Amino acid sequence: MFNLSRYFSTVSFILIVLAAGVLGPLYQKLSLQQMKDLAQGRNVAMAQVFQNSLHQPLLDLLGESTGRDASALAQSTSRAYIQGSAEILMQGTSVIRVKVYNRVGNVIFSTDARQIGENRLASPGFKAAINGSVLSDLTYRNTRDGFEETLAEMDVLASYIPIRGKDNAVEGVFELYQNVTPFVEELEHSLWWVTAGIVLTFALLYLMQFLVVRRAQGILEDQEGRIKAARDTLELQVAARTEELKRTNMQLEGEISERRQAQSKLNYLAYHDPLTGLANRRCFIERLEESLRETAQRGERLAVLFIDLDQFKQVNDSLGHGVGDELLVAVASRLAEHVRLIDMLARLGGDEFICLMEAVRDEREVEVLAQEIIDALEQPFQLGDHELFLTASVGISLFPGDGDSVLALMRNADTAMYRAKFSGRGNYHFYTPDMTQLAQERIQMENLLRRALEHGEFKVHLQPQVDTRSGKLVGAEALVRWESPELGLVMPSRFIPVAEDSGLIVGLGNWVLRETCRQFMNWRESGFELPQVSVNLSVKQLERPEFIDVLDTILADTGMSPSHLKLELTESVVMAVGDSFGLLDKLRSLGISLALDDFGTGYSSLSYLKMLPIQQLKIDRSFVEGIGTNGGDEAIIRTIMELARSLDFEVVAEGVETEEQAAFLAELGCQQLQGYLHGQAVAPAEFRTRWSKAT
Ligand code: C2E
Ligand code: CA
Ligand code: CA
Repeated sequence: MFNLSRYFSTVSFILIVLAAGVLGPLYQKLSLQQMKDLAQGRNVAMAQVFQNSLHQPLLDLLGESTGRDASALAQSTSRAYIQGSAEILMQGTSVIRVKVYNRVGNVIFSTDARQIGENRLASPGFKAAINGSVLSDLTYRNTRDGFEETLAEMDVLASYIPIRGKDNAVEGVFELYQNVTPFVEELEHSLWWVTAGIVLTFALLYLMQFLVVRRAQGILEDQEGRIKAARDTLELQVAARTEELKRTNMQLEGEISERRQAQSKLNYLAYHDPLTGLANRRCFIERLEESLRETAQRGERLAVLFIDLDQFKQVNDSLGHGVGDELLVAVASRLAEHVRLIDMLARLGGDEFICLMEAVRDEREVEVLAQEIIDALEQPFQLGDHELFLTASVGISLFPGDGDSVLALMRNADTAMYRAKFSGRGNYHFYTPDMTQLAQERIQMENLLRRALEHGEFKVHLQPQVDTRSGKLVGAEALVRWESPELGLVMPSRFIPVAEDSGLIVGLGNWVLRETCRQFMNWRESGFELPQVSVNLSVKQLERPEFIDVLDTILADTGMSPSHLKLELTESVVMAVGDSFGLLDKLRSLGISLALDDFGTGYSSLSYLKMLPIQQLKIDRSFVEGIGTNGGDEAIIRTIMELARSLDFEVVAEGVETEEQAAFLAELGCQQLQGYLHGQAVAPAEFRTRWSKAT
């Protein structure tokens, strides 16, 4: 990197040396010249003094000199006189020698007598002086004198000065030697100081500038450092980005090859249900589209049959998904084997199957097919240890009567299937336009349900439960009623499924729980002591992690004692909740009683039942109904009673309408009865009026 300080130092050093080298000698030269001029002036003045004081003797001597030899001159009286006078004149001055030359360059007088007679005609000083000008020469100590070539012991300035006679003509030449040693010494001394001064000044200047330059250098370096850092970061970023791009590229390549593999698998999966190997929804839709075109061209009819298994959800919930899957596979192969009239069978997902019948001549053909489907599932399925009974509900739509698009035909068959299910398990139903109306009503109901809670449209009714032997009131079941301004009184069997599907059941169920507890405590406080009250719980409520907290709050808010509260759960609810054991244990430890509702319709195993912390079984109404007419139902009730005895459960029978049913149940040891025989579910006020007299 360019080093400004070093560059500056080098250049400055050279300049200082140069300046000192030039300025020093310049000063010396100038001062020397000045000193010489001064000394020369003094010599000229001295020469004048000589000339003035020794005018005549000098002229005499000059006159005498012509033609006389040196020794004669040395003996002359004028010379002796001049010698004496000169010595006197020189006293106290710095002139140390005086010489006089005649016009031809002979020394005719010198304070050093030995020099008399010497000729200096060739000397430049003499030549200048004889021509009328003054010339001086400085001889330094211990060097040879320029004019006389003798070694001097002092610094001497010798000056040749013309001697003018009358008419101002040059008659001879003076040579004066002046001792200038003190001046030269002084000059040398001052020269030393001046040089030192110059060097010092420059050094100071240098120092100041150096500081400035060094600061500038610092700034430069700082900036360069920053630029370098920025460049480095940039380089790093570029490198990182390049690396990242490379990686993304590789990842992309990997993904592409993975995708290709997946693609071929997908191509198969795209048209098949992986579980059963049947065609899937997409495959069915494409086939139906094609079939619709051809059928329309030929002016024929076709049928779409929507099949839904009735108890599949219960099997799945109680026995697990593994058994559920096995069952689906078994159903698929049964349908494929036994149903001859099907043109195409597909599984839509879950427990929904769909099939296509082409070239339909009349509806009876379709009826036969639907019945075949239902019959095919009649025989029980043996899966491991489980023997499972299944029924299917079938909905049928016909082309062109019930729609001319795939979507319409499938939707209408689905709607018809709901209708079939509604009229009882194991049924088929043809689509009719009023069914769509029903489906729309369901949507309307959901919308109305949404605000029903806020609008206070729900009421809790209570149905008595009595002791079988004494006929005394032992409890009541809370059953919700909906008094809708738009729909009138709606029974739970209509709106509870809608509330379950939409999730509204959570808010509704919690409200029923709170309202029941409130009513119960209200009665207690006013002296009507109902021993216990039961509330139905939906799986959706139990699934909520905050359920226990909600329950706690309700108990705390209403002051309800848990020992007076019974919760009714169906088998499928118990099976469906993840940690049902933990949850039920928690409810139990709060002191709440638990009843298993609709008992006998589910698939609970004996060992499973044994582990549940429940106290009561509720025999489902459908079995009670068969008492006296259906031996199978009676047998089931007997089995339930034996089971309850051995597992130490209390039993309550629901839907008891006749004395005969009551007697049958009493005989078997059923402890409690609930049903129209003892009273329907009624509003609290009516309930109290009826039962406060009896207790
Ligand atoms: P569930 O729990 O099995 O309730 C018994 C149902 O049988 C009630 O119908 C009751 O009125 C009816 N019933 C009682 N005795 C007789 C009888 O002697 N003969 C006949 N034919 N029926 C009788 P409801 O009130 O229509 O309730 C239907 C279902 O709605 C209930 O069946 C229950 O599953 C559900 N439900 C009712 N209230 C609630 C509630 O607050 N929460 C939840 N999650 N479900 C409720
Ligand atoms: Ca119940
Ligand atoms: Ca029930």
